[in-house]
Amino acid sequence: MASKKILIVGGGIAGLTLAIALTRRGIACEIIESNPQWGVYGVGIILQSNALRALETLGLAQRCLEAGFPYSTTRYYDAQGQFVRERIKPNLSGDRFASSTGVLRPVLHDILRAEVLALNVPVRLGLTVSQSAQAGGRVDVTFSDASVGSYDLVVGADGIRSEMRRTVFGAEHQPTFMGQACWRFTADRPAEVPHAVMYRGTRTQAGLIPLTQDKMYLLLLTAEPGNPRLERDSLRGMLAERLGEYGGLIGELARALPDSNEIVYSPLEPLLMPAPWHRGRVVLVGDAAHATTPHIAQGASMAFEDAVVLSELLDEAPSIDQALLAYTARRWERCRLIVYNSLQIGRWQLQAWEGKPDPQADIVTLSNQTLEALRAPI
Ligand SMILES: Cc1cc2nc3c(=O)[nH]c(=O)nc-3n(C[C@H](O)[C@H](O)[C@H](O)COP(=O)(O)OP(=O)(O)OC[C@H]3O[C@@H](n4cnc5c(N)ncnc54)[C@H](O)[C@@H]3O)c2cc1C
Repeated sequence: MASKKILIVGGGIAGLTLAIALTRRGIACEIIESNPQWGVYGVGIILQSNALRALETLGLAQRCLEAGFPYSTTRYYDAQGQFVRERIKPNLSGDRFASSTGVLRPVLHDILRAEVLALNVPVRLGLTVSQSAQAGGRVDVTFSDASVGSYDLVVGADGIRSEMRRTVFGAEHQPTFMGQACWRFTADRPAEVPHAVMYRGTRTQAGLIPLTQDKMYLLLLTAEPGNPRLERDSLRGMLAERLGEYGGLIGELARALPDSNEIVYSPLEPLLMPAPWHRGRVVLVGDAAHATTPHIAQGASMAFEDAVVLSELLDEAPSIDQALLAYTARRWERCRLIVYNSLQIGRWQLQAWEGKPDPQADIVTLSNQTLEALRAPI
């Protein structure tokens, strides 16, 4: 395809990976990022083997493996720390990588950001799109600093609350709170957490995920009816209350919680954009197009895969319009499966916590089947 000018709105996981993928193929692009510090707010992230498979095609897998903590097993305990069962997660990489690799979220961001800068991708910080208008196969953009630009393609990689989605696709496409929230903080990793550990409470689900030789994170899934707005200062006390029933390692961590400002509280709000994921020459990638709850830990994997597929199509399809149509066609069902099945798992948990468990509920089987379906090439 002839040379083109591409603007990526958002320098997070999807935007950075897409910039790397395009540049590797010799396609020029530039990034704008609204956060002047270009940092990330977060604890850790699980990279599943399909994430590493996608990152390997971009030459980034080894750096993530070296910075992270690979593991393939999840051990399940009751709330008091009594062992229940062990699960070996499906490996989608033909055993090239572990099934999962825990990575500190800021470290993953640093790896992607460093590569973008090393590839000399232009990045402008503290900037967003104020207005965009399309005519004749071009997008004319006015930025928030009043500068202007004209592009062959604009990519909305601006996350779950995407403004590109709102302004170009319509305000009706909003993520919807599904009843659960996730609490997380980073802690020192003891030797007995060399794999994921899940603890089943009566009305919550706790877990520990290894991130490095020294660090892990604690996660707690809770029901938060009505999606209350929580004061930042109250997080420590509220988390202590919610962890009250746990013994064992979780109980120990609950007695030594960090300050509220080190606790990340995330209401879970999935969204799946209907096909197609483009309007004219504006296309969505990552959470802007498909935000999932974290029950199968696939949100970032889907963003990496979006980047690999979109860059390939923009390089190889006869026209941008054909590339964009083929992009949704290749991505939609895979992302739908993740969003729907992750949501189903969350709903089963909520039903069980309300004392009305669905007799059909089988979280491990649905999670394994979903991962198996991702084994197919992207
Ligand atoms: C609790 C929780 C746990 C999770 N755990 C996992 C996990 O273990 N494994 C996994 O694979 N996924 C996980 N995810 C999902 C994962 O975090 C997301 O799928 C991923 O961050 C999506 O990347 P993104 O680039 O689309 O969005 P983001 O990472 O949100 O990046 C968007 C970027 O765009 C910028 N931006 C926003 N608005 C604008 C604007 N108007 N103009 C310019 N820039 C803008 C933002 O500042 C940001 O830098 C989890 C999610 C949650 C909520």
